[in-house]
Amino acid sequence: MKIVVVGGVAAGASVAARARRLDEFAEIVVLERGHHVSFANCGLPYHVGEVIADRSRLLLQTPESLRESLDIDVRVGHEVLRIDRAAKTVTVREVDGGHSYEEPYDELALCTGAEPLRPPLPGIDLPGVHVLRRIGDMDAIKAQLDAAIALAATGARGPVRTVVIGAGYIGLEMAENLKHRGALVDVVEMSDQILPPLDHEMSVPVEHHLRSRGITLHLSTAAAAFAARPDGGLNVELTDSTVLAADLVILSAGVRPNTTLAKEAGLELGARGGITVDTHMRTSDPHIWAAGDSVETPHTVLPGRWLAPLAGPANREARVAAENICGRSTEYRSTQGTSIVKIFDMVAGGTGATERQLLAAEVPYRAVHVHPSGHAGYYPGTAMMQLKVLFAPDTGRILGAQAAGFDGVDKRLDVLATALRAGQTVYDLEEFELAYAPPFGSAKDPVNMAGFVAS
Ligand code: FAD
Repeated sequence: MKIVVVGGVAAGASVAARARRLDEFAEIVVLERGHHVSFANCGLPYHVGEVIADRSRLLLQTPESLRESLDIDVRVGHEVLRIDRAAKTVTVREVDGGHSYEEPYDELALCTGAEPLRPPLPGIDLPGVHVLRRIGDMDAIKAQLDAAIALAATGARGPVRTVVIGAGYIGLEMAENLKHRGALVDVVEMSDQILPPLDHEMSVPVEHHLRSRGITLHLSTAAAAFAARPDGGLNVELTDSTVLAADLVILSAGVRPNTTLAKEAGLELGARGGITVDTHMRTSDPHIWAAGDSVETPHTVLPGRWLAPLAGPANREARVAAENICGRSTEYRSTQGTSIVKIFDMVAGGTGATERQLLAAEVPYRAVHVHPSGHAGYYPGTAMMQLKVLFAPDTGRILGAQAAGFDGVDKRLDVLATALRAGQTVYDLEEFELAYAPPFGSAKDPVNMAGFVAS
């Protein structure tokens, strides 16, 4: 069997590695148009901030390591231009040489991921306007930031000014890391709140925390245009007519699934623009599979199929695709969108549906809010957390949960994500026996408290 994988990052590298573990004789080819495979996208903001000082730590695998350890033929700088479904071949172009060739497959896995949105605004292509998705993006941001910091250190100019467009997870991680490097940071968000994956009241404490750490927030306004300044920087004009000066701009306005190949090959796409797959991660062509940010999957709570550009789902979907390619019958049931972010000293995240999504989908719900401390108040180093659990009024089934606070937020989110996945009710939370000693929690854990309040 010959398996060809398009895209070599989270989903693509996982499909290839899992397939090799299940079939030692298969020929496995990974075609990646970029110059890196299997790198840690999630770590990119932290190298810009020099929290992860060693760039090579982000390169989890190289073409050579995948070839040596797993006998996978990894070709970077090779872009797949089209799929011939009848002939079962892909047309590949060598990005640097321009040479093209046909590569046959028995089974094809599309792991083409997502691309950052670049709204068609005046000046969007100016050199100082960056997106952050790949190693090359990170290198470009860091090089420009380092140069601006070096110039500022000579006293020849004032501090480095940066503008982040979009206050989602990546935007806020970048804001923190730019601040960490000593830059002034303005964050622009078109919604009236930061962190759109959270309900409004859950985002407010994080908003206060960002402001307390010197980040300037501009809510309910958006970037309208970018213009070059005589000093080499940029002016960012907002829809409310504010003009922000910047040495560099980070656009983190969301992503869209990369479906060009699938679309041109006539594969079925879903209502949200992602590739349609069944529970085995098979597309509408029986020999083409897809996984990662480019696919739509059922939501664990909400009706319909959703895009969930997250690393955990990408890896699990890829594993399922590989297992089915190799003859097993494994199912990917749903994505609940569990996500978390660190913002300076705070942590926030959620799982399942938000109240806003339940309202929009007309799913009946009730909500409980509790405000316990992360661990026993008499043991140093704790603070109040906000915990919100959404549940079905008739059965009590957990529909979603969100948390924001300082210590122990990740642990509560993961417990609630597990309960949601297991189909448990808000009343079951009362009975959870969770690990407790004063540095870690309370005898009545915040998760238990949510259950007590609901009942
Ligand atoms: P991608 O990583 O986009 O990889 C797709 C690859 O396919 C690309 O390298 C592309 O070049 C290649 N490709 C596309 N078309 C072709 C073609 N025609 N021919 C050849 N190659 C092609 N998720 C979390 O869960 N937690 C986090 O903390 C988190 N942090 C993140 C931080 C940043 C800065 C970013 C950018 C992402 C973050 N994510 C996070 C999201 C996570 O990284 C993605 O969900 C995951 O990488 C998706 O993997 P993928 O393989 O589907 O797509």
